[in-house]
Amino acid sequence: MAQPIQQYKGDMPFREIADTFERLEVITSRTQMTVILVNLFKKTPPEIIDRVVYIIQGRLWPDWKGLPELGVGEKMLIKAIALATHSRESEVENLYKTLGDLGKAAEQLKKKAEEKMSKAVSILAFIPARKELTVNHVYDTLARIAMAQGEGSRDIKLKLLAGLLTDATPKEAKYIVRFVEGRLRVGIGDATIMDALAIVYGGGSHTRPIIERAYNLRSDLGLIAKILATQGIEALKNLKPQVGIPIRPMLAERLNDPKEMLQKAGGRAYVEYKYDGERAQIHKAGDKIWIFSRRLENITSQYPDVVEYARKYIKANEAIVEGEIVVYNPETGELRPFQELMHRKRKHDIHIAIKEYPVKVFLFDLLYVDGEDYTQKPLPERRAKLKEIIIETDVFQIAQYIETSDPEELEKFFLEAIENGAEGVMVKAIHKNAIYQAGVRGWLWIKYKRDYKSEMTDTVDLVVVGAFYGRGRRGGKFGALLMAAYNPDKDVFETVCKVGSGFKDEDLDAMPEMFKPYIIERKHPRVVAKMQPDVWITPAIVAEIIGAELTLSPLHTCCLDMIKPGVGISIRFPRFIRWRPDKGPEDATTSKELYEMYMRQLKKITA
Ligand code: ATP
Repeated sequence: MAQPIQQYKGDMPFREIADTFERLEVITSRTQMTVILVNLFKKTPPEIIDRVVYIIQGRLWPDWKGLPELGVGEKMLIKAIALATHSRESEVENLYKTLGDLGKAAEQLKKKAEEKMSKAVSILAFIPARKELTVNHVYDTLARIAMAQGEGSRDIKLKLLAGLLTDATPKEAKYIVRFVEGRLRVGIGDATIMDALAIVYGGGSHTRPIIERAYNLRSDLGLIAKILATQGIEALKNLKPQVGIPIRPMLAERLNDPKEMLQKAGGRAYVEYKYDGERAQIHKAGDKIWIFSRRLENITSQYPDVVEYARKYIKANEAIVEGEIVVYNPETGELRPFQELMHRKRKHDIHIAIKEYPVKVFLFDLLYVDGEDYTQKPLPERRAKLKEIIIETDVFQIAQYIETSDPEELEKFFLEAIENGAEGVMVKAIHKNAIYQAGVRGWLWIKYKRDYKSEMTDTVDLVVVGAFYGRGRRGGKFGALLMAAYNPDKDVFETVCKVGSGFKDEDLDAMPEMFKPYIIERKHPRVVAKMQPDVWITPAIVAEIIGAELTLSPLHTCCLDMIKPGVGISIRFPRFIRWRPDKGPEDATTSKELYEMYMRQLKKITA
């Protein structure tokens, strides 16, 4: 009979995590991965489950907290490995070059150092006891490394890291090094972590949606795991939004037939301008304002003007509202395209950027106000409250909208929106179940964009998973990229096309530097591909792609076998349009969306 799994008390040896990572490395099935995580979580004391979850996610805390990153470059890491293994830096570098993996290099050097030590020990007959690393010790040390800032911080970081690697076993050293490098590559996505949490602490897979909703409201999987493990599933059910913690945004499906849109929305709907700017979730608590991006980054410092608007024009004491920030021309009043917002991304001279690129905010939702959760209320109620709590001005106003059930009126409004510098319209359900579905792409919101009028119905956002070296003028550089769509059901990336055109020289020049941190030896475990690129890349970078049309291809794995056996969906004549730094890999166009786009295209051709 299998032994019951024992839970540790208070803290846990770090070796449990290293062993888990090792097991995960050799499997790709999500079910098996979940089982392995379940075993780890069962052993984990509830007090440290948050830390264990963060480590699996490859981070120390959620990005939106704006806390410092580790700040350890490759050079420092090599130095620390050399110190911890009594090797020369050149030795570490050479081994790194041979193995192509600094984690493995550290592991081998640690083994060698241990062998040397055990020989010396047999002569001296004295065995120095190694301090066993615990999760808390590793986490605290890494956090101290991150927090060391300013003068002298380099030495402190190096000392702490070398100390950690000295105490680590070879296997532990491998994973600590990979963690510090930001290349853990164990292939575990948030979805699998939530599956395992539901089984261990929720009482079964049926509690998974509760965990997911809580995560969508609080965007901190470590915190959610801790609440669940220490207070139980009921505590998650009652979770409300909290000012200062970003809520994962609600997203829209796409269509291009006004009649169908209205049908899907339930007959009558709000139709709003879809502004071409940056999405902003604005949080207010008294005088304190936070602005979070679509990817939940804290972008408050880029928009001191929006901070001022929010302070002045939101009347409630505490509120979370959503809107689009758009650049405009103060002389003509016309709205400017999204690209101009990039000037707001600079750290310095933000006061100059504010003058050169002034912005307006168009608000479209309200999620929370003065202690009350609005995410569960229907849109008309949210909109009415939004109107009540803001003072509308030219630079801080509610998105233009109409309420209609007439497809012709919708089309007319769509054309007017484009005429006025918008990207198209958003059609939003207003029935009693039209709640704010945090983190969900659903039919309560439908987007209808200008690009739908081009040959391929729309641009798509795909993730780079591999790269090919170029020839001729592009010799020595990357010339084409292998792009993939996201499949959330399987939590994997499925290839769609190889894109080699549309790149400007600057794009090609920037690629090696941009891809360097993500290049990996083998295919990433979450990538499903048939094509073999020259280098594999961890799914992290998203690009917007357009093409002539969607086709079927035996070379790609997106929707493989779904339309015909042995073939997937691909893009004919794909062309790069721009990077989408505002999107993470899981925000890419999904395989399901491509399937629906393909089916619509087919319907159009056969009509
Ligand atoms: P896209 O790639 O088309 O910009 P997306 O994938 O970022 O879209 P979607 O949910 O598909 O996200 O489209 C909605 C986006 O449109 C929002 O994220 C928001 O930034 C923007 N937007 C502009 N105007 C509105 C509006 N009135 N209501 C909701 N979203 C709006």
